[in-house]
Amino acid sequence: MSSQISFSRREWFFETSFPGVRRCKTDAFRIAKEIYKGRTEFQDIYIFESPGFGRILALDGIVQLSESDEFIYHEVITHIPLLSHPHPKRLLVIGGGDGGVLREAVKHPLTEIYFVDIDKEVVGVAKRYLSFISKGAFNDPRVKIFFEDGRNVIQRHKNFFDVIIVDSTDPVGPGKVLFQKDFYRMVQQALTPQGIAVFQLGPFLDFDLIVKPTAKKLKDLFSSVAPVRLPMPSYSCGCEYCFMIASKKIKLSSLDASTIAPRLAQRLKKKAQGLRYYTPAIHCASMIMPKMWQL
Ligand code: SAM
Repeated sequence: MSSQISFSRREWFFETSFPGVRRCKTDAFRIAKEIYKGRTEFQDIYIFESPGFGRILALDGIVQLSESDEFIYHEVITHIPLLSHPHPKRLLVIGGGDGGVLREAVKHPLTEIYFVDIDKEVVGVAKRYLSFISKGAFNDPRVKIFFEDGRNVIQRHKNFFDVIIVDSTDPVGPGKVLFQKDFYRMVQQALTPQGIAVFQLGPFLDFDLIVKPTAKKLKDLFSSVAPVRLPMPSYSCGCEYCFMIASKKIKLSSLDASTIAPRLAQRLKKKAQGLRYYTPAIHCASMIMPKMWQL
């Protein structure tokens, strides 16, 4: 017996692919309820509910987060760089307009957190319709908020941030500048001598197209560069996802769980109990690559 599914664009959201990547497949999410649709100066914003995934935020037709798995993304991109650093005090977050990175970052005993997103409207809409993501973190007194291109903020700082988290959109639209080598050079210069940066990158499906060339650019500038892998069911064909972490001095992949565990306990205290994905063992395991992804 065969069954057929018919796809209506009113009932299904088809993720937009961008030139050169994801030509073979696309992801379709059933739309249970439309929450918000709008156009800003920089991008289209669409929020809807989908069975199984909960609320989904898409920018320019590309899924940025889903309620069901955003914690994996935000815990990994935040706690891996911060806990790899021996004593981070000043953090810069570029992008991350939904507030998920800030929610995780404010759990750390940082003194200053600079947050810069190019699009004020993404932050406003996320606060209104996705408040379970930021959980009030935009109001933390240590957070300084800037609405401008992250590239400009980086350009104004030298030897200033201990950790930089680049939680941008993909290398299309306003996020394109954040994937270029001159931007990576500015990030390197904006970091303090033991500084660490992490960049949201893409699915391992795009290994030759995005992951490998990015590692090459970063290796020219940083002494330690490592891919970080995480499961992201709501992203690009449900494929394993890749961040790239880079450090000026600390050898990232040689940190072991016995170094990370006391840092987690001392810095997050009781808040560590609320984490749902990140553990010191996951920290180390996320940097172990299968043979085909070794760089
Ligand atoms: N988790 C995400 C993903 O799927 O790629 C990223 C989430 S976050 C919503 C991405 C943010 O990056 C957006 O709010 C967007 O406005 C911001 N952004 C894009 N280009 C930027 C730039 N050049 N400078 C600062 N922020 C930027």
